[in-house]
Amino acid sequence: MNEFNNLIHGEWVAGTGYSPNVNPSDLSDVIGRYTQGDAAQVDAAVAAATAAFPAWSTGGVQARSEALEKIGNEILARKEELGTLLAREEGKTKAEGIGEAARAGQIFKFFAGECLRLAGEAIPSVRPGIGIEITREPVGVVGLITPWNFPIAIPAWKIAPALAFGNCVVLKPADLVPGSAWALAEIIHRSGIPAGVFNLVMGRGSVIGDALVNHAGIHAISFTGSVGVGGRIAVACAETHKKVQLEMGGKNPQVVLDDADLAQAVELCVQSAFYSTGQRCTASSRLIVTEGIYPKFIEAMKARMAKLKVGDALAQGTDIGPVSSQSQIEQDLSYVEIGRSEGATLAVGGERLKRDTEGYYMAPALFSESAPGMRINREEIFGPVASVIRVKDYDEALAVANDTPFGLSAGIATTSLKYATHFKRHAQAGMVMVNLPTAGVDYHVPFGGRKGSSYGPREQGRYAQEFFTTVKTAYTNA
Ligand code: NAD
Repeated sequence: MNEFNNLIHGEWVAGTGYSPNVNPSDLSDVIGRYTQGDAAQVDAAVAAATAAFPAWSTGGVQARSEALEKIGNEILARKEELGTLLAREEGKTKAEGIGEAARAGQIFKFFAGECLRLAGEAIPSVRPGIGIEITREPVGVVGLITPWNFPIAIPAWKIAPALAFGNCVVLKPADLVPGSAWALAEIIHRSGIPAGVFNLVMGRGSVIGDALVNHAGIHAISFTGSVGVGGRIAVACAETHKKVQLEMGGKNPQVVLDDADLAQAVELCVQSAFYSTGQRCTASSRLIVTEGIYPKFIEAMKARMAKLKVGDALAQGTDIGPVSSQSQIEQDLSYVEIGRSEGATLAVGGERLKRDTEGYYMAPALFSESAPGMRINREEIFGPVASVIRVKDYDEALAVANDTPFGLSAGIATTSLKYATHFKRHAQAGMVMVNLPTAGVDYHVPFGGRKGSSYGPREQGRYAQEFFTTVKTAYTNA
């Protein structure tokens, strides 16, 4: 059985033990054994990053750009293999896995260019004879903590800007799916970047994540994961004076108006609620439908969902792969029971499925006749479970869409320019989609939300420099 170690100061080092990475489509398939680090390894990784920082941060942008370009090119050249590994360990379909791997490659190539474009400002002083320069400098040693649902794209969209802008990195990936992050680390290691610039420490959140967040040598933490963990990280970062960026949960609304193109609306609802097994922070879990189209919408959703093929993530023709883990499927199934007990109607699915191999298979569930105050409409389920809320008109739809502690992505299906324009302006979300699924975003523009979904500067695109640099104002009396 293959064993995979941590990367600290350019060396592969074993932690305190190993934990199996199991395929959720086939529990008998163990992908590999991945080491579990400890706090001492976090110390070593931070020390390596600290030692590498002076040369890396001042060594010029050409070397950084070349390294990022090389990493991006290798990921793209190996996207089939990396995407297959990703699908095998996380459970999204092979096509989705390959798409995610390609996205990771594109992100590295984007930031290979972006580090050449980092600009400052020259401004006249209010005092004659004095010049002012405003420049951006790297933050220092950054700790990156990532979730299991995008095992290569989320590490990529934190690592690439961190390195591009001259920071050194300690990555702690999700312990459920370390395989893709390890493969990415191996590619970064071989890119020729100096030892210590990038370090990987795998292991439990309560051990590695906690040690990173509380480490005096870490200057900034970028975290993606659940609201509960994110909130605790924000408090710890405030106490230890670290810059912090949090991307957390969602309860994303998808509004469907009477004037929507029904076939298009159904397709985008199915896509954003159930693809990637509903395990996307941008998934739509509240389908808010005006009463004129509601009966037709429910019937069309049932007909479309009957065609969804749930199966092994790597099998040809699978639309929806397994749920990622035992605890996640238990949570999903418990919310199906909660929805029933709250009085919503289970229109389709919601049951555990048997397949040729033992895995975490579940039929995507759709509730109809659900009310905005029900727990299934307020709490993030993070699985293939969505509910439909019937509303009178656009105004009520908008009010229901915004009535949530979250604010990541919001969508509207309509042929009305008036409503589309109003929704873009008034939806309380970081990202708004018109006649598109709430999930599925470009790699070169800002990503993030509001309210309980995000905290701190945006990720990705040009806006990533906000978090991964710090501003200096220099005065010169020439
Ligand atoms: P999680 O919060 O359980 O874990 C996220 C990461 O934090 C993991 O690496 C975990 O090991 C680590 N961690 C756990 N406890 C920690 C601690 N005490 N200190 C430091 N680190 C700790 O989340 P998850 O289950 O891996 O991911 C699912 C969640 O992620 C969902 O809520 C989803 O909405 C969210 N998510 C958000 C986005 C976004 O961009 N908004 C993207 C993807 C996923």
